[in-house]
Amino acid sequence: MNENRCCHCQRIFLPNPRIKNQRYCHRAECRRARRSHWQRQKMTTDPDYQNNQKEAWKTWSQQHLDYWKAYRSQHPQYVQDNRLKQGLRDRKRRLGLLAKMDSFSSFSFVQPGTYFLVPYLAKMDSFAQKIFLIPDSSTDWANLAKKDSIDRTTGFSYHSP
Ligand SMILES: [Zn+2]
Repeated sequence: MNENRCCHCQRIFLPNPRIKNQRYCHRAECRRARRSHWQRQKMTTDPDYQNNQKEAWKTWSQQHLDYWKAYRSQHPQYVQDNRLKQGLRDRKRRLGLLAKMDSFSSFSFVQPGTYFLVPYLAKMDSFAQKIFLIPDSSTDWANLAKKDSIDRTTGFSYHSP
């Protein structure tokens, strides 16, 4: 006779011959453990299942607002913890937003106007192609080309919208 050891209660049990690789015994507690293990697995591996669960949870809690009201009034510690956690989440979000705004403001904007786009081939290094934006009123083209000894300077007028 084939005997299995339950992976929840560690008891030896006779497996149901119709179930392959039965790892949990028939006790209610172990069946529950098997189910919650399966759900945890599903939550981490199946995005559809995860979304369904979230939706079901949302629907349920919206239909049971009274339950939450009662729960909160009976569990002041839960309310306090939740408030604390929400505060932390808010602060994290604000910090994230600040970091984003900071990197955004360090970006220099090109003033609207007429510019020359000058591709500058730095010693034929194809990865280091630089483009200088030069306002069209302030530059002496002939001198710039000589100074930087660029033998192939192409300039064209670019009018930003
Ligand atoms: Zn068991």
